[in-house]
Amino acid sequence: MAYKLETQYNSPNFTAGSSVPSVYGMLRLIDYITIHWWGEPSLRPSYEGVVAYLCRQGGNTSAHEVIEAGRVAVIIDHINAAWHAGNATGNARSIGLELNPRASEGDYQTAAERVRDLWAFYGEKPLKAHRDWFSTACPGVYDLAKLERLAKGSFGVPTPTPVVAAPAPVVTAPAPAAPVVASGKRLTLPASATGWNIYPLNRPPVNGMQVGKLNPSLFGGLTYDIIRMNQPAVAVIRTRDFGEVQIYVGPETGAVISGAASAPAPTPIQPVPAPAAPSAELHSRTVTNAVAWVRTGPRADAPTAPGYPEGIAKGATLSIRGFVAGQDPYNNGNDAWYVTRSGFFVWANAAGNSLAGLPKLN
Ligand SMILES: [Zn+2]
Repeated sequence: MAYKLETQYNSPNFTAGSSVPSVYGMLRLIDYITIHWWGEPSLRPSYEGVVAYLCRQGGNTSAHEVIEAGRVAVIIDHINAAWHAGNATGNARSIGLELNPRASEGDYQTAAERVRDLWAFYGEKPLKAHRDWFSTACPGVYDLAKLERLAKGSFGVPTPTPVVAAPAPVVTAPAPAAPVVASGKRLTLPASATGWNIYPLNRPPVNGMQVGKLNPSLFGGLTYDIIRMNQPAVAVIRTRDFGEVQIYVGPETGAVISGAASAPAPTPIQPVPAPAAPSAELHSRTVTNAVAWVRTGPRADAPTAPGYPEGIAKGATLSIRGFVAGQDPYNNGNDAWYVTRSGFFVWANAAGNSLAGLPKLN
């Protein structure tokens, strides 16, 4: 990644993902990427000024990200709908990117690189111009075909895997995922840390996207092998409870990265967290919906659990420990959620909706 990712700005001007169905009549989905420009270059807008404007209290317009050459500010988590399209589908089902209207080659390069990174997380979602949603001049001079061509091309950034030269503008397939190879480096999370967010591999490592937390203080610190670095300060590690995840390890966090492949470990490897205590008794329920989603929390808008990207199909048997009361944000009611053997959550209505004989776990 050749751009700086800034996450310190937060706009209050959005519709929470859980409220999108009631506000827009459809689920919050990421099916498109909508391109904007900040406005007329003659008005001399600045990156900081646009970020501040979109983050203002009580505003009625916003976007997810503000981009110019070399930097990207994520001001609204993608799980929420920003107010950028002037159109229900555009707001509910796309990510809005605001680009510097000067449209320099650097602006194009960074925007294209960001699009490519978003594609890596969400799949190759089509680019839309703001004017595809709403009668407006936005995004002005921006050429979406050029942006798409750049996003599919090579950026000439050194990477550990060979980069295929792409002299022609046509690329037929996305690059294969990098092989899982231990980097030979080790990550130590200090014992002083109590809650360290971890993120699934298919989401940006930003607030709201976390799949869980590690608690190094419980173990006198935690040490992991680094599988690879996704960004200069974002490592991929394999955890016992969550599988492979991303973790932010910037210098301000106290994380220590040590060791080349040949160097001995400076400290003993810390124990891996023990799995949750097994329940004395497991119970079975059969999936009755076409699909039962397995989630990381007892909420309909919690992320899907690692290892279950497509849920569990009708007819399959769940092995569960008990149930917890949860909240269904789409129906404003309380609901029961089964706690699976692995400690994840399945909405009871999706699998028999029977709490008979189950222990209540919260
Ligand atoms: Zn626009």
